[in-house]
Amino acid sequence: MKSSLTWTCVWLGALVPMSAMAAPKVVVSIKPIASLVDGVMAGVGVPTVIVGAGQSLHTFSMKPSDAKALNTADVVFWVGEGLETFLDKPIRALSSTATVVALMDAPGLTLLKGREGGVWEEQADEHADHDHDHSQDHDDHEVDGHLWLDPKNAKAVVNKVHLTLSQIDTVNAAIYAANAKSLSQRIDVLDLELKQNLAPIAQRPFIVFHDGYQYFEAHYGLNAVGSMTVSPDRMPGAKRVGEIKDKIRTLQAACVFAEPQFEPKLIQTLIGGTSAKIGTLDPEASTLPAGPNLYFDLMRGLANNLRNCLAL
Ligand SMILES: [Zn+2]
Repeated sequence: MKSSLTWTCVWLGALVPMSAMAAPKVVVSIKPIASLVDGVMAGVGVPTVIVGAGQSLHTFSMKPSDAKALNTADVVFWVGEGLETFLDKPIRALSSTATVVALMDAPGLTLLKGREGGVWEEQADEHADHDHDHSQDHDDHEVDGHLWLDPKNAKAVVNKVHLTLSQIDTVNAAIYAANAKSLSQRIDVLDLELKQNLAPIAQRPFIVFHDGYQYFEAHYGLNAVGSMTVSPDRMPGAKRVGEIKDKIRTLQAACVFAEPQFEPKLIQTLIGGTSAKIGTLDPEASTLPAGPNLYFDLMRGLANNLRNCLAL
C-alpha cells in the first residue's frame, strides 16, 4: 500500500513539469473565440490569435507570420467557412497534422441564418465581404457566423474546445475540464446580469451599421429594426444620405449604432435632422485587450452601450 502511494507521488511529480513543457500549440482565428480558448487553457498555455488588436475580421488579410503559426499549430480553432474568409484557403491547404476545428459544427449551438432583404440591407461593401463569398457557395444555407454573441453558444464553444484539447493533450485533461466548468459558470452569471441590465430597454427600436448582432438580439429579446450598409470612412452621396435619414425616421429608431472604425463626422451627418441618438458597438472586440476576460468585457460592453443609448 505504502509503496504504491509513494510510486503515485513520484509519478505525479514527474508528470507536472512534463505537462508544462508539452502545452499544445493552439491557433485561434479571432479574439472573442481566443478569449474562450484562453480560459479553457488557463494554467497550461496561451493560444495565438490571428486577427489582432484594431483589426476587423471582415477586412483582414494574412501575414507570413500568421501562415507560419498555422503551419506549426497542433490545433486550429475557427468559426468556419463564411466568417473568417481569410482562412478558407490556408486551412484547405494546411499540410501539417494540425487538428482543425470549425466551431460552427460544435454540438449544442443555436445557429441563425444571415438576414437579407427588406430593412436588412445586403452588405455590399468590402467590410462584409464574407456574406457574399458565403452566399455564393451555399445559397440559402448561409449561417450568420457571429455566434459567440449568444452566451449559450459560448458555452457550447467552451465545451467543444475542452473536449478537443483533452483528446490531444490527455495529460492536462483534468485542468481543461475544471477550467471549462468554471468558465461556463461565469458565463451563466454574466448572462443573468445582462438579462437584468437589458430588460428595461428591450422594446426600444434601434438600427445597426453592420448586421452582426442577431444572436445577441435574439437571446436578449431586443428590438433591432434594421441595418444600413455604410462604409466606415466614405461619405455616401446626397441621395443615399437622404434615404438613410428616411429609413431612420420610418423605422422610428431611437438609436443608430456605429462601430469603432466609423468616422464620428460621418455618423453625425447621417443622423442629423432625425430624432435618433448615436451609440457605438464593438461585436468583434477590436478595441479590447486579448485574454480570458475579453469575452466578458465584450458582452458587458455591448449591453452597457445599448442601455446607455436606448434608456429613456
Ligand atoms: Zn462581423
